[in-house]
Amino acid sequence: MSRIVPFFKSLLLIELIKGLGLTLKYVFRPKYTLMYPMEKTPQSPRFRGIHALRRYPNGEERCIACKLCEAVCPALAITIDSAPREDGTRRTTRYDIDLFKCIFCGFCEESCPVDSIVETHVFEYHFDKRGQNILTKPTLLAIGDRLEAEIAERRAIDAPYR
Ligand code: SF4
Ligand code: SF4
Repeated sequence: MSRIVPFFKSLLLIELIKGLGLTLKYVFRPKYTLMYPMEKTPQSPRFRGIHALRRYPNGEERCIACKLCEAVCPALAITIDSAPREDGTRRTTRYDIDLFKCIFCGFCEESCPVDSIVETHVFEYHFDKRGQNILTKPTLLAIGDRLEAEIAERRAIDAPYR
């Protein structure tokens, strides 16, 4: 008996018909597939993409070289050197993030007392030369300068939940 039922099922193509029925059921439904890169999924304001260092509106860099981000980074991806400037304030002389080590956890952003280091919405980037995985201070500041409007907007949207 246990072999008769499968025999008749295969003879009558029951499984095939069930499969075709399932295909027919989904063929007219909205598709889940996105035509990337023309179509993209919605992004949370908390999305953690490539990093940036921000400035104040007067152009002064926010980072005060407190090194909290370096200390909290679980992947040891951040390297900071610092020195006092002529005006007596402390600033970084080196701020590197190794993207090969970074796990995009967001701890650096969370720990920063002056909203300097942030993770942007940009996730489409590539490296074509050895060493480009290290984001240096000038690179991070340049990303921040370029994306400041979007960064400020996303942080404003997220502010009520912080
Ligand atoms: S996102 Fe996380 S792993 Fe990456 S640099 Fe910041 S703290 Fe380190
Ligand atoms: S980015 Fe923020 S947390 Fe990191 S050293 Fe600068 S001020 Fe401190």
